[in-house]
Amino acid sequence: MTLAVPADVISRLKAVLGEGGWSQDPERLAPKLVEWRDRWSGTTPLLALPRSTAQVAAVVGICAESGTAITPQGGNTGLVGGQIPDGEILLSLERMRAVREVGVANDVLVAEAGLTLAEAHDAAAAVGRRFPLGLASEGSATLGGLVSTNAGGVAVLRYGTMRQLVLGLEAVLPNGEVWNGLKHLRKDNTGYDLKQLLIGAEGTLGVVTAAALKLFPVLVSRAVAFAGVASPAAAVTLLARAKEETGGAVESFELIGRLGIELALRHIPGSREPLESRPPWYVLIEVASGEPGAAEAGLERLLEGGFEAGLVLDASIAQTGEQAKAFWALRENQSAAQKVEGAAWKHDISVPVSRIPEFLETAGKALTAKWPGVRIDAFGHVGDGNIHYDVLSAPGGDPAAHTALREAAALVVHDIVASLGGSISAEHGLGTMKTAEALAYKSPVEVAALRAVRAALDPKRIMNPRVLF
Ligand SMILES: Cc1cc2nc3c(=O)[nH]c(=O)nc-3n(C[C@H](O)[C@H](O)[C@H](O)COP(=O)(O)OP(=O)(O)OC[C@H]3O[C@@H](n4cnc5c(N)ncnc54)[C@H](O)[C@@H]3O)c2cc1C
Repeated sequence: MTLAVPADVISRLKAVLGEGGWSQDPERLAPKLVEWRDRWSGTTPLLALPRSTAQVAAVVGICAESGTAITPQGGNTGLVGGQIPDGEILLSLERMRAVREVGVANDVLVAEAGLTLAEAHDAAAAVGRRFPLGLASEGSATLGGLVSTNAGGVAVLRYGTMRQLVLGLEAVLPNGEVWNGLKHLRKDNTGYDLKQLLIGAEGTLGVVTAAALKLFPVLVSRAVAFAGVASPAAAVTLLARAKEETGGAVESFELIGRLGIELALRHIPGSREPLESRPPWYVLIEVASGEPGAAEAGLERLLEGGFEAGLVLDASIAQTGEQAKAFWALRENQSAAQKVEGAAWKHDISVPVSRIPEFLETAGKALTAKWPGVRIDAFGHVGDGNIHYDVLSAPGGDPAAHTALREAAALVVHDIVASLGGSISAEHGLGTMKTAEALAYKSPVEVAALRAVRAALDPKRIMNPRVLF
């Protein structure tokens, strides 16, 4: 493998891609070479823009033969830098966005990897179905990226991550061969599962070119509320009650600390205080049911019972769709509000749900003892044990000085996560950001097995070579 790509390889790639299928125009390349928060920027000798699986195969084939490295890119919304090239060929799937099939008999949507999540939602809705994965980047994030990062989002509690939502894949393997695994099967027990290997592989085991996704019925009854609670422990107890009270109809159960609400109110235009009592912790709960009125009734029962049990301090149920959207905007704008506030150490961690309170307490004490004045903005998916544990500098602190301590802080947080049986990357993957660090938390036995799989499929390590083990 070499990053200085020979001129004849570039010429061959251009030839197979044809007119409009590649670019070296700095202006065209610029937005694809920088991550949206400006955390990573990169270079590429060529942006490849295939419009078919056959063209992807031709590109990968030439790269495999010549030992030329490739970085696949979807919507460039990844949060760990894996989509930004550093001299590799940049392979964008943006011209491959066809919906190949959508139907209710198999409840399946088959679409190309460049389709955005929002477009997939629309395609499912057009046949009266729903693809339930939801995340704030849905307008840009693509199916290829979602598959390759095993994306999660706000409805994992009920529907799982992409691992549970993908029925089949089509991919170009690192030797340039096309694997057609676009099955529509809910049961297929025929040995190793290649699609599961590709899900979450972050572009290291091939290029995902299309996916077959599971569709679900549209649920007619939906209710959203903000509940104020005294502590994360109360939130965890309330979650267990919510599952029981609604018969498993809880779609989302998101925790936000008071600081997160304050940041959104300060920096996001149009934000409004959700609970005038201003409790220390907030839970955003969404319940959905196929039975008319059932979600609203279940949520009301839950909140009433929660008040009586002393778990819920205050609550507000959205009365209109607009109010529900406004509640969700407070949650979805957490990162945007932080960005305006200044530099943050960000951690995307998970622990067993029952250990969330212990994690928050232990990590909070450790960080504030070491760096007095830092502000902890913890929010996330309680039902998945997944907390976005973000730490801002003391008010008025120097952003550069805060950023310089990011790795030292990550070590403190991630050691606590590991001691609680957790993961240092719950949903964003490892990318170039966390790959080296993750090695320290995996056993040598596991790393050796993972490396053997990768070497078998990609002996020249051409696919996203700086990412994963
Ligand atoms: C505001 C915001 C909110 C977010 N919320 C969530 C959330 O709730 N949950 C969550 O899980 N993530 C979240 N993310 C992260 C991000 O949106 C997801 O990781 C998403 O899956 C990335 O999709 P993408 O198309 O942008 O991929 P990219 O960022 O382009 O790529 C991500 C990785 O996938 C690889 N890749 C991309 N396409 C392909 C392909 N076709 N074949 C092989 N490899 C490929 C890339 O090489 C890279 O390693 C959020 C991001 C933002 C900006």
